[in-house]
Amino acid sequence: MTSARHTSPYTAPEEKNPPSSIEAKRRAAVTRSLLAWYAAQRRPLPWRATRDPYCIWVSEVMLQQTQVATVIGYYERWLRRFPDVAALAGADTEDVLRAWEGLGYYSRARNLQRAAQHVVERHGGQLPVSVAELLELPGIGRYSAGAIASIAFAADEPAIDGNIVRVLTRLFGLRGDPKRAPLAARLWELARELLPKGRAGEFNQALMELGATVCTPRAPACAGCPVREHCRALAEDRVLEYPEASPRPTITHEQRALAVVRRQRRVLVVRAPADAARWAGMWQFPDVRVASDADPSAVLEASVERATGVRISAGARLLGVRHQVTRFRIDIDVFACEALGGRARAIEYAEVRWHDPDALGALPMPAAHRRIAKSLVQT
Ligand code: SF4
Repeated sequence: MTSARHTSPYTAPEEKNPPSSIEAKRRAAVTRSLLAWYAAQRRPLPWRATRDPYCIWVSEVMLQQTQVATVIGYYERWLRRFPDVAALAGADTEDVLRAWEGLGYYSRARNLQRAAQHVVERHGGQLPVSVAELLELPGIGRYSAGAIASIAFAADEPAIDGNIVRVLTRLFGLRGDPKRAPLAARLWELARELLPKGRAGEFNQALMELGATVCTPRAPACAGCPVREHCRALAEDRVLEYPEASPRPTITHEQRALAVVRRQRRVLVVRAPADAARWAGMWQFPDVRVASDADPSAVLEASVERATGVRISAGARLLGVRHQVTRFRIDIDVFACEALGGRARAIEYAEVRWHDPDALGALPMPAAHRRIAKSLVQT
């Protein structure tokens, strides 16, 4: 699929002047146009009104895999609750996970807190300035390190996220898989070459902003783009062919059975161990993966007794919940279960409790389990 045809004054470098000279001029013009456009058009987002490295770090972590509109409320609540590195480092991890609930990808929250503890212990509570030291913090990769160093500390460092990949591959007509060599390395090089000295933070944000608001994946607004006259993809009328798609990860289907076990007015909940592969440290209803040819009630009864010490009888299926997480599609059959006996103990979980269903809101829970918890209160 190609974009609607536009005329563009862009000409390939080989046509008139030596490539190096015309290319250097073109890059300088791209940088100038982007900075001017960003100064006039940038959205007034809360993390743009501060130079506090902690606030910028929190915003960058939240913005990974989450839309700006969703992040704003979380960001403001988070800073009220954990206003600085020391507050986050010393907080109860359950409170941290509860404040993150709904943003998904909970390893981001756990890593934020671990990194805050590291900053308190080894850097006196001040976020380190260099990319090399930032990269040592849990959860901070090359993009986040570059974004924090350039925005908070005015370092001349590039930062490449999905938006910037889209803008650069279109602007410079770069073919190949942007997640793999050689294009991945070329993009970092190019982003560094384009940086205006002393204004890297602004420039990185200008590229991100262009990708988020103008050079969007499916409907780029090329007619209003500040760098349209330099854009190779537009000149070729092949805008939607960039960036080339990486192979899609295979989605694995997982069928699970989940027990809502009631005893008097309470319900059985469990907390996943801190090193669990999924939803570590969060509260859940006990559940188990079920093979397609197995009897879910029998598997569930055996699993709950083995993991919690509580003997149950699985009754009617209450509801089904579908949940998509990274490359898994999880279908959960929820069963109403009766407790037959046995003392609740944390055998395979970090903690096991009989809990008032009306008070589950105080515990951090993954989205699928939160939906089930809400359905218990409504019924
Ligand atoms: Fe993106 Fe279109 Fe601007 Fe090129 S002209 S950078 S494709 S919005």
